[in-house]
Amino acid sequence: MEGKPTAAGSRDGDDEQQDPLALTLGSIYAAAPPPPPSPPPPPPPTAAPSSVRRRLNSGRRAARVVKARADAAVHHEPPPFPWATGRPARHDTVEALLRRGVTTVEGHARCKRCGARKAIAYGLEAKFRALRDHIVANRHAMNDRAPDAWMYPALPDCDACGQKGAVWPEIAADKRGVNWMFLFLGQMLGCCTLEQLKYFCQNTGRHRTGAKNRVLYYAYIEMCNQLEPFDGMAPHW
Ligand SMILES: [Zn+2]
Repeated sequence: MEGKPTAAGSRDGDDEQQDPLALTLGSIYAAAPPPPPSPPPPPPPTAAPSSVRRRLNSGRRAARVVKARADAAVHHEPPPFPWATGRPARHDTVEALLRRGVTTVEGHARCKRCGARKAIAYGLEAKFRALRDHIVANRHAMNDRAPDAWMYPALPDCDACGQKGAVWPEIAADKRGVNWMFLFLGQMLGCCTLEQLKYFCQNTGRHRTGAKNRVLYYAYIEMCNQLEPFDGMAPHW
């Protein structure tokens, strides 16, 4: 399709003036011998000299590269995790993640007392379903505010020193590197500061003012919405 000469040749005058390559191609076709009489077949795609086609294609390729780089500069940084996207605080649906082979979400936590570090992994689908069902069943009672269980997450005990509830999730100082999915599935988003939660909501178009229990509530709802968008059957987040 891209290499079809007729596309450039049939552009309007404005386009031709802005695009020197289109002009070149147009003049080549103008100079080409007239097509045989009825029925006039469309000019074959090989009509343009290969050097012109190469120039045209490389010009377009260069334009595409420039556009891709501009997009990357706007919001498509490399995803910090396989279950994240290049856009801050945005995630694909559970369905898409599973299709991509992402079945487990991992993160790290560290004991506040002895400093021992441990890796924690959650099965994406089972963990999400359980949390989602819990939210659907209890959402009305929450009244747009995170319950205490979210505000003060029950943290794991330390395997190394035995301290109860001392293992805190690691949260990246750079907000773009925060492992939101891990914190969400572990119901540890409440370990984030208000500032971090506001960043999350700001990047997802959610309500981001008010007390922490309000912003935290919206962060949970937003994650549900990202992972399982409303489709007329599923709950409306
Ligand atoms: Zn410890």
